[in-house]
Amino acid sequence: MRAQDHWRGHARYTVFDLDYADGERIAALIEAWRADPQRPAHLHIIALTASLQPGVHRIPQPDASITLDLVAAPLETALAELNAHLDFIRLDGAEGLDFVRPLARLSTLDARLVSTGLDAGQRAALAAQGFVFEGESGNAVFSTRKPRLPRTPEPIRRALVLGAGLAGCAAAARLCARGWDVTLIERHPQVAMEASGNLAGIFMPLLSRDDNIPTRLTRGAYLYALRAWEQLGGIGRAFDGAQCGVLQLSRDASHAAVSRAIAQEGKLPPDFARWLEPPDAEQLLGLPAPEGGWLFPQGGWARPGSVCEALLASCGARLTRRFDAGQVSLERAGDDWLARDAAGAIVGQAPTVVLASGAGARHMAQSADLPLQALRGQVTHLAPEYAPQLPLVLCREAYLTPSASGVTCAGATYDLDEDPQLRAASQDENVARLRGLVSDPQAAEGAPLAGRVGFRCVAPDRLPLVGRLPDFSAAGATERLRDVPRHPGLHGLLGYASRGLIWAPLAAELLAAQLEGEPLPLEMSLVDALDPARFVLRARRGSRHPSPTESDIQP
Ligand SMILES: Cc1cc2nc3c(=O)[nH]c(=O)nc-3n(C[C@H](O)[C@H](O)[C@H](O)COP(=O)(O)OP(=O)(O)OC[C@H]3O[C@@H](n4cnc5c(N)ncnc54)[C@H](O)[C@@H]3O)c2cc1C
Repeated sequence: MRAQDHWRGHARYTVFDLDYADGERIAALIEAWRADPQRPAHLHIIALTASLQPGVHRIPQPDASITLDLVAAPLETALAELNAHLDFIRLDGAEGLDFVRPLARLSTLDARLVSTGLDAGQRAALAAQGFVFEGESGNAVFSTRKPRLPRTPEPIRRALVLGAGLAGCAAAARLCARGWDVTLIERHPQVAMEASGNLAGIFMPLLSRDDNIPTRLTRGAYLYALRAWEQLGGIGRAFDGAQCGVLQLSRDASHAAVSRAIAQEGKLPPDFARWLEPPDAEQLLGLPAPEGGWLFPQGGWARPGSVCEALLASCGARLTRRFDAGQVSLERAGDDWLARDAAGAIVGQAPTVVLASGAGARHMAQSADLPLQALRGQVTHLAPEYAPQLPLVLCREAYLTPSASGVTCAGATYDLDEDPQLRAASQDENVARLRGLVSDPQAAEGAPLAGRVGFRCVAPDRLPLVGRLPDFSAAGATERLRDVPRHPGLHGLLGYASRGLIWAPLAAELLAAQLEGEPLPLEMSLVDALDPARFVLRARRGSRHPSPTESDIQP
């Protein structure tokens, strides 16, 4: 029994393989798909592997008709965290019985199962769930009367994306790649004129001892961003930036002790994160590093505006730009949304809207109830004579980039006011932190006031908002995310806080997959952690979040 004997007549076909192994079986499957003139329009492959860090890894493919998800998790965990319709399942060497129910939940009617090495108990359990085996063979066909997971209806592939920063440009790119016609609306004449307008943003993962949800999400986003940027043409090639590495110095001895304990668990691949004791960190940096630090060799910096431009360049003819539109508002018109500029003129109409308006979302009627905050940040720009020249990005409670086009960026402040002007006091703060970072009390002495002010859009839990926006006014007494009423066709990509560079690619891919009803590039528990409706449930439960502190947020 082979997938290619079964996939004809399917528009989208999803294969699940328990063992990616060396990838040769998957490569052969893709080859068979390419060779078949009656192939499904889209082939989605989900395969388990032991060779990657825990979680789902979407591996961008040159051909947008193929999606490959590698999942590093035990079989039953992987299935329980999956939201997919499996058409073909290969189970070689499955262990235990816990996988049987989640597998049946995900299998489509008439799905094919191919297996070797199942024991009698496993066959019986699979049969009890609806897998009808062909004689003594390991091949089975799935059949059940139980209701199946609902399918997302075929979308009308037209969307308005509101906001041309990192979030909106990534959304436009992922939707255009799926054949959507996208109108990107922006109040400014160009991309990246608000939070995404900094000369340099840094990218790096986050570590924790308990591998908590923010850590897992950040890891998934970071790794996906690195792959997506490679696909886009490469950091420093398709857009400005450098994968020069990030050295995150330890704050103090207790921070270093926790870091050392994480390192000693030996779970982190050295190309992802390497703990450096003080002599090694000092040698790398050429400066004192008394408590040591983490080296993220694949981390670095990028100019967000150039990332936005590269993303839009990848969209091709499906993208329409409506820039310089002034303050745009949204209103419902039948099954569509209308976007109107400040003068009331219609600048776009579509059934789907992606709100990627950053801190601006606080002033739009449909998102004003979301608990979003604008956090002012001032970055300081230093000419070469005022800044130490570093081989990599250095950070702790602040960051310092290597010089690019004659400017070193040192930042950034976290302020609660909304003053858009550069302030000497904010620059003093940046310089004080910089001096601590490079152990030089004279660093940046006399540097003129220079830099940029931006406003991060931050949610109380510091995590992004990805998905359909809740309708607070209709929420009532809901207890579960799936019961929260939503604005029809209105989706958010908001709250990227201090990690917009890495959130943008994964969040856009997640939203595009949700709109298409595809398997998602993240575990369900992580998808739920990003659901904008989480704040409806939290508001009902009366949970409170502390206001942001430096240590919560990327330096
Ligand atoms: C000082 C500072 C330092 C930072 N450092 C880093 C870093 O080192 N690494 C990192 O990854 N991230 C960093 N960030 C965060 C990062 O810049 C943001 O997370 C990211 O840029 C957010 O992108 P966005 O597209 O969501 O928002 P934005 O870039 O703000 O884009 C939103 C767009 O929507 C438009 N818009 C809003 N409302 C309307 C409306 N009604 N009509 C028309 N248009 C509208 C706006 O004009 C804007 O262009 C930093 C941010 C700041 C402020």
